[in-house]
Amino acid sequence: MPRPIEALIHTDALAHNLARARRAAPQAKVWAVVKANAYGHGIERAYAGLQGADGFALLDLAEAERVRALGWRGPILLLEGCFEMRDLEACSRLNLWHTVHHEAQIALLAAHKTHTPHQVFLKMNSGMNRLGFAPSAYRSAWTRLSGLTQVDSITLMTHFADADGTRGVAEAAALFELTTRDLPGDRTLGNSAATLRFAHGQPEVGADWVRPGIMVYGSSPDFPAHTAADWHLQPTMTLRARLIALRDLQRGDSVGYGGAFTADAPMRIGVAACGYADGYPRVAPTGTPVLVNGQRTRLVGRVSMDMVTVDLTAVPDATLGSEVTLWGQGPGGNVLSIDEVARAAGTVGYELMCALAARVPTAVV
Ligand SMILES: *Cc1c(COP(=O)(O)O)cnc(C)c1O
Repeated sequence: MPRPIEALIHTDALAHNLARARRAAPQAKVWAVVKANAYGHGIERAYAGLQGADGFALLDLAEAERVRALGWRGPILLLEGCFEMRDLEACSRLNLWHTVHHEAQIALLAAHKTHTPHQVFLKMNSGMNRLGFAPSAYRSAWTRLSGLTQVDSITLMTHFADADGTRGVAEAAALFELTTRDLPGDRTLGNSAATLRFAHGQPEVGADWVRPGIMVYGSSPDFPAHTAADWHLQPTMTLRARLIALRDLQRGDSVGYGGAFTADAPMRIGVAACGYADGYPRVAPTGTPVLVNGQRTRLVGRVSMDMVTVDLTAVPDATLGSEVTLWGQGPGGNVLSIDEVARAAGTVGYELMCALAARVPTAVV
């Protein structure tokens, strides 16, 4: 028998969350963001649930080729654009749309020999200060790009620094508006947080293409202000294992490496076949929520490479083989949001799903 751990990718939940993004920006076309191997879900595994998208956005040429290999003939966007001439050749060959965020990418395009002009996304820096032209340089970049025979159309793009935070998008969106006011072409502004929080009140944030990533995977972009359930999102990844040992502790017994947890009264614990080598965060402390037989309980002691230990006080019917839900959809319709686990570990749902380890057998359901 294989080690009792598996991940499930929930096709219906992906489709549901994608539809949720569409409802949040009903006028817009929707890029399903599938970078980082579909946020750890696996591009091939997530594909069935995401076929309702208008396009797929990602960073990596190899991933773009995988989307084409699945039979997708629609738009694919490279969010960081091209890094060298060979990438532009791949864009011509695979019909990939690409971001232009830097002078060097304009120079590359100008030198690229192609019979089919490209769809490019010209990115403005609206305060994130990672990629994109400064507002003062944006219009001249647009003018040079639009003069190239290699360019078919230019979509105007920015990415918000604080769509999930207290600053929100008002200032950045206004700067983008001002800079691009009379330029023709489609626009794309919103990631998940911007789309969920602001597209309704500020329609320009939801135009003309939105770029939801994390919400598609059932994690709330602004947890804990809103939970995934508040946003009507469903978990798309379940990580589950089984109990492979049970143990009764006496008062004073400690658990795991370093004895990081000590029982202050007699209690029963269980050992689940999931550890940090499976992608579960090693830093998750005692108290991190976990479900056993669908009942909520907590981690105790340190996460080790292949195992975690869980408190069974609240789960008297737990036995060898009981199901342990590390995150996602548990038995009896009980959900443990990846966002809660991430918070306990001092990180975000994004990081946990991206870190799902290759050794975990994964099924599409
Ligand atoms: C990753 C990414 C997104 C998606 O962001 P989420 O917060 O996951 O919705 C959108 N746009 C760009 C440019 C990105 O890099």
